[in-house]
Amino acid sequence: MYCKNCGSALDNNAAVCIHCGVPNGHGERFCSNCGAEVAPGAAVCMACGYSLSAQKVAAPGAKSKMTAGLLGIFLGAFGVHNFYLGYKGKAIAQLLITLLSCFMLSEVSAIWGLIEGIMLLSGSINTDADGNPLGD
Ligand SMILES: [Zn+2]
Ligand SMILES: [Zn+2]
Repeated sequence: MYCKNCGSALDNNAAVCIHCGVPNGHGERFCSNCGAEVAPGAAVCMACGYSLSAQKVAAPGAKSKMTAGLLGIFLGAFGVHNFYLGYKGKAIAQLLITLLSCFMLSEVSAIWGLIEGIMLLSGSINTDADGNPLGD
């Protein structure tokens, strides 16, 4: 495995990276599976497909990204997915765009919600408004 902070090869049993001194498993700049550099917050390593979010285990009762994604795709014009996740500001904005325009601008919110729905399903958005990891 590899240091997630500096990307150098690590002994599986090493508690601390001998190169940068960061505890094994800490950092989010490199893939611990193949050592490739990854974008901060990326869900999956682009080089090997290893799930980087595996360490962020969803708590029992975590909100479902599947539910949120589908809400965004089908009811995004009303901000339902953002109400569900607790992103109240965005949710109210999407709802108001739709309602205040008497649905004339509902497509704006709908497309916004659709994009967020897809990002939720693909894991690009993977936490709720409180920063809790989403479940499946
Ligand atoms: Zn290191
Ligand atoms: Zn990798």
